[in-house]
Amino acid sequence: MTHSKKKIIKEIKIDPDKCNGCRACEIACAAFHSNPKYNGFNPARSRIRMIINEINDEWVAIRSASLNKTECKARSRYIINGKEYSECSFCSAICSSRDMFREPDSDLPLKCDMCGEDPDQVPLCVQICSRDVLTYSTREETVQDEVNWLEMERGLKSLSKKHGLKKVKDAAFHMMKKK
Ligand code: SF4
Ligand code: SF4
Repeated sequence: MTHSKKKIIKEIKIDPDKCNGCRACEIACAAFHSNPKYNGFNPARSRIRMIINEINDEWVAIRSASLNKTECKARSRYIINGKEYSECSFCSAICSSRDMFREPDSDLPLKCDMCGEDPDQVPLCVQICSRDVLTYSTREETVQDEVNWLEMERGLKSLSKKHGLKKVKDAAFHMMKKK
């Protein structure tokens, strides 16, 4: 079942021409999402990753978005302002064809959560970028409130593989009792 609700949408625009590939955004995101917070700096746990091709002078920061269950066939090369970008450079999908946006231990998808719901919380990757590559803004929108079953299914499968289905069920039951 779905219903509409007003929601503050957080947006980050990316200007690849300003990026120097310092990768501070990756470190900041990984640190913000580590447990305990700021206790780990592994870029493999970041929800923003750099696509780098030094020969092409290509530096593109990509934030992860949707999960692709199967690889897509819509791969394109882009030419923007006379500069050619590689296939998938601007794709934010969590996709099996590339080694990023997966939690290294559990294989869970690492989707960008915009550093939380609070619109006043400027995302960490934006804060850390000293080249103004990332521009943060908000807008209000009416959205459909619905469950992303594909992501939930993948997450539950991964947790069941790691902990066993019974423990996952027990944890869910425990959470419901606490509500
Ligand atoms: S922090 Fe900014 S300049 Fe550095 S890699 Fe990220 S987007 Fe590029
Ligand atoms: S907005 Fe937050 S979660 Fe998303 S990529 Fe930037 S630091 Fe990571």
